[in-house]
Amino acid sequence: MTSAALNPAQREAVRHLETPCLVLAGAGSGKTRVIASKLAYLIDECGVAAPSIAAITFTNKAAREMLERARTLVQTPIEGRRKPLISTFHALGVHFLRTEAQAAALKPGFSIFAADDSLGVITQALGTTDRVLARAVQSQISLWKNGLIEPDEAVARSTGDRDQAAARAYREYAATLSAYQAVDFDDLIRLPVRILERDLEVRERWQRRLRYLLIDEVQDTNAAQYAWLRLLAGPLTHFTAVGDDDQSIYGWRGATLDNLQRLGTDYPTLKVIKLEQNYRSCQHILNAANQVIRANPKLFEKTLWSELGPGDPVLVSACEDDEEEAERIAVRISAMKFERRARFADFAVLYRSNQQARLLEQALRKQHIPYTVTGGTSFFERTEVRDLAAYLRLLVNDDDDPAFIRAVTTPRRGIGAATLETLGALAGERQCSLLAALFETAAESRLAARQLAPLREFGAFIHRFTWRAERETVAVVIDDLLAAIAYRDWLFDNEPDRQASQRWQNVCEFVDWIKRRAEEDGRNLLEMAQLMALASRLDGREDDSDAVRLSTLHAAKGLEWPHVFLAGVEEGLLPSSVGLEDDAADAIVRFEEERRLMYVGITRAQRSLQVSWCRQRSRGRERVAEREPSRFIAEMGLDRALEKTPDLSPEQKAQTPQERIAALQALLRKS
Ligand code: ATP
Ligand code: MG
Repeated sequence: MTSAALNPAQREAVRHLETPCLVLAGAGSGKTRVIASKLAYLIDECGVAAPSIAAITFTNKAAREMLERARTLVQTPIEGRRKPLISTFHALGVHFLRTEAQAAALKPGFSIFAADDSLGVITQALGTTDRVLARAVQSQISLWKNGLIEPDEAVARSTGDRDQAAARAYREYAATLSAYQAVDFDDLIRLPVRILERDLEVRERWQRRLRYLLIDEVQDTNAAQYAWLRLLAGPLTHFTAVGDDDQSIYGWRGATLDNLQRLGTDYPTLKVIKLEQNYRSCQHILNAANQVIRANPKLFEKTLWSELGPGDPVLVSACEDDEEEAERIAVRISAMKFERRARFADFAVLYRSNQQARLLEQALRKQHIPYTVTGGTSFFERTEVRDLAAYLRLLVNDDDDPAFIRAVTTPRRGIGAATLETLGALAGERQCSLLAALFETAAESRLAARQLAPLREFGAFIHRFTWRAERETVAVVIDDLLAAIAYRDWLFDNEPDRQASQRWQNVCEFVDWIKRRAEEDGRNLLEMAQLMALASRLDGREDDSDAVRLSTLHAAKGLEWPHVFLAGVEEGLLPSSVGLEDDAADAIVRFEEERRLMYVGITRAQRSLQVSWCRQRSRGRERVAEREPSRFIAEMGLDRALEKTPDLSPEQKAQTPQERIAALQALLRKS
């Protein structure tokens, strides 16, 4: 066997090829290991050609890790064209739509709109300035798309003014997107489904190509993703899905547990395999997890056990406020790192809401502890990164009008709003893009020569670089592009030096990332421009460094650390009170999802788990008084659950990390 150690049930799942297979098991029981090992098994022992295998993971990071694992497990080289297809649903969507652009009525260089691009279009479609309303409509549209409901259907179904307005905005939004030759994230799933449904030729081609489907975290698939899987899995396709109903935490995005149950009915020969041994966590941690999740109704009964010994008892600390909480965590990490000879990367601090990150970051910085933040605002949403990205998008797709407007005005090149408005009107009449409109003869009569000249110069510039992007290496093209637009000068002309240099540094990191990824994966700039939309951080950069991980619970799924801190485990935060005040049936569903989130959090820990809650928490400048510990703490069934842990002594508080380490060293020498 080429894979690392497997227990008999895992081995059975790896070797089972006769019928579809579902591994349904609790956290840390080696489901992801089954997927990686099966990939290796298929290639090495069954002689399956790697490109006919697709493994689908939930995050880009998981996809990369899987590829790494596969590289070490598989003995047959899997480089270049002989690679299996390992990706997220969304990345597979990009790949699919590029390949089937024609069937999708898209050009291969379609643009991918990030959430804020979409929000702009939706705001316009609604004719509102109310961002909160626009956001609400945006998530409604997303739910419609993930439920495979088309705009006309949404209009027909909706009742009430608000719903009607949202449905009409959906229709207009969809029309605008297709005029721009753009898709949003949800389309990356929805469109492949539509194409596969209606086009037999395409469907058979994909079914012939992908003979083996391996799917991780299947409990978090939504209706569209499930439909896609069903369409990809032809009569000869073997699929293996692994998941845990207790870890389904994306219900709010339309993921539905029904899919797990449907697998059984849709595939009567489905072989269900359970794994019960947990290889991740010590017994105290596992007990707490089992106790918490027990309170949720069960789809499938599971009992997890572990041979890793009792480990450290789970600690609960009550803090006066969130500042104290952050400080305690930071101090604990420095101390534990020393006591246990751990690395910073062995620690994670997990929380329910992104807003909790700020104080934690401050506290870690104060203790000189390196950290990385996951799940927050993405690197790719920074202004300077999006400025540059607008150019890249335009190179790929000259119909991308929002990218055109951003690029043509950043840096400023003497093109004003009035000029753009005239151009926009002309584009509307001619039914063409802004970029195409500026080359129309009619533009000459509508715009003064001095207005038209910089526009045409810009147009020629874009065309020149598009031509080069298809032929030259990414590194050369992108460096030349940056130099040509003098972006750095523009930053320093418009902002104080410190900010400008920070922004410029981000641009450089972004450019380095593009170059590196392009070289590693053999992609040109046009392909990179599309992939960029899916990335949320400059992967591979921070991961090598030894740093504490700060992450939302949602973004921590599938991962593990020796020492985990769960911060802010309070009523109102975890379980979150958002949405729970709505109608009763919905509230129960959401509440159970909060409990699963707690379960996910607990089960990330291998050796130690520390849970904290605060009596007061600041919200903006306000203090929100008298908070209660989360009921999940009581549910963990710890004997001394609500006891307050001893305060830091004043001496401890005052010490610098160096002093504290010296003190600890002194202590060790004594013993
Ligand atoms: P989650 O539900 O959190 O995604 P999982 O079920 O996917 O967890 P894995 O991440 O595959 O679990 O495995 C958890 C840990 O246990 C990993 O460190 C993995 O390497 C290890 N592990 C899995 N199976 C075995 C095994 N048979 N022997 C030893 N270690 C194992
Ligand atoms: Mg997993």
